[in-house]
Amino acid sequence: ATPTALLVGTGRGSQLGILIGGPQVLEQTRRVDTIVLDKTGTVTTGVMAVSGITTADGEEDDEILAMAAAVEHGSEHPTGAAIVSAALERGIGLTPVESFTADAGSGVRGMVDDRLVLVGRMAWLEKEWSSSAPAALADSAKAAEGEGGTVVAIAWDGSVRGIITISDTVKHSSAEAIGRFRALGLTPILLTGDNEGAAAAVGTAVGIDDVRAGVSPAGKLDVIRELQGHDRTVAMVGDGVNDAAALAAADLGIAMGSGTDAAIAASDITVVRGDLNGVVDAIRLARRTLGVIK
Ligand code: ADP
Ligand code: MG
Repeated sequence: ATPTALLVGTGRGSQLGILIGGPQVLEQTRRVDTIVLDKTGTVTTGVMAVSGITTADGEEDDEILAMAAAVEHGSEHPTGAAIVSAALERGIGLTPVESFTADAGSGVRGMVDDRLVLVGRMAWLEKEWSSSAPAALADSAKAAEGEGGTVVAIAWDGSVRGIITISDTVKHSSAEAIGRFRALGLTPILLTGDNEGAAAAVGTAVGIDDVRAGVSPAGKLDVIRELQGHDRTVAMVGDGVNDAAALAAADLGIAMGSGTDAAIAASDITVVRGDLNGVVDAIRLARRTLGVIK
C-alpha cells in the first residue's frame, strides 16, 4: 500500500504544481520545525523598481544608470533587471559589456568602454577596491536603507560614483502564509543578503521577528548549520543562486518555481506556483500523504 499512497500524494502534488523529489522527502516534511525564508523573490515579488539615484560630485544620473545597466544586462539578479528597465525607460541604450562576472550575493562587474565597472553592495565595492565611498554617498545610502530600500552602488576607475535605490514589494499572500506556517508548528526566520533596513521592513510587514540581514551565500549555509546544531530540523525556501548552498544543506529544501535553475536543482521540493501559500500546501499535502501511509 505504501508505494500507492506515495503515488497518490505526489500525483496530486503535480496537479497542484508541487514537485516532490522522492518518498524520503515526505518524512522530512513531518519533522521540520523551523522554516527559513529568503527575502527577495520568495517573500517579496522580486520584481524590483528603481526609486532613486544619487550621484557623487560631477556625475550625472543618466551616466550612473547607463554604466550600471551595461553591466547588469548580463545579470540574472532582480536588482539587475530593475536597473536595466529603468535605463530603457529613459531611452538609455545598453553599451556592450565584456568580461562580465557575477559574485552571488554581492554584485557584478564587467568592462564597459574599456573601464572596469562594479555594481553591487557598497561594502563589497569598498572591499574590492580598498577605498571608501564619498561621505555624502555613504550617508544617502544609510538613509535609503533606513527607509527600507535596497541600495546598489556603482564604481568605475577605482571610485564609487553613485548609488541607485531599488524598491521591492511584499507578495500579498506572504503574511497569510506565514501565519499558516506558524499554525503548522513551524517557526519562521527571514534570511537575506540585503541590508538591515530593507530586511526589517519586510519582517514587520509579514510578521517575522527573527530577521537576519546582510548574510552572504556562504553565511546562509552557516545559518542553516547553526540551527541544525541547536537541534532544529530546518526547511529552507529560496529562489536564487545565492540560496543554493543553504537549500542543499537544509533538511528540506524548497525552491520557488519562478526561481533560478541552481535553486531548483538544490531543492527537494519545487513549488511551481510562485507564492508561499504554495509552500504551505506542499508541506500539508506531504504530511497528509504520510498520514495515509501510517
Ligand atoms: P537576497 O538574499 O535578498 O536574495 P542577495 O544575496 O542575492 O539577496 O543579494 C544581496 C545584496 O547584494 C543585494 O541586496 C544587492 O545589494 C547586492 N547584489 C547582489 N547581486 C547584485 C547584482 N547583480 N547587482 C547589484 N547588486 C547586487
Ligand atoms: Mg532570493
